Amino acid sequence: MTDFRDQSKRMSLGQKQELFMRLLPLLLIKAHQLGYDLRGGDLFRDPRVHGAAGESLGYGHRNSCHKLKLAIDLNLFLGGIFLQETENHRELGEWWEQQHELCRWGGRFKRPDGNHYSLEHNKSM
Ligand SMILES: [Zn+2]
Repeated sequence: MTDFRDQSKRMSLGQKQELFMRLLPLLLIKAHQLGYDLRGGDLFRDPRVHGAAGESLGYGHRNSCHKLKLAIDLNLFLGGIFLQETENHRELGEWWEQQHELCRWGGRFKRPDGNHYSLEHNKSM
């Protein structure tokens, strides 16, 4: 029997970036199916601006998956209203978590970050 947990652990960063790009359109479609409009936020945070992985520079977490191109921030709108609370993202975030064992939703973070959707890599989310 295939151990998918073990398989995920062996995935390279490039393989995870490809998986993220494969899953991202499904996330966008799901958000629209739930009736939201979306405006894109950060996907890649360039280490030249935000510091290398583990280094704190500019804004955001020093170990952010944005630095690895494994995260996106999505801004939700409903009827033209910007939904800024983490709870507004819960349905979409919980759906995202079910798409792959590496999928992480920022609503679970110690400091909740509801609009953050990512794949885990070496404990970065
Ligand atoms: Zn984020």
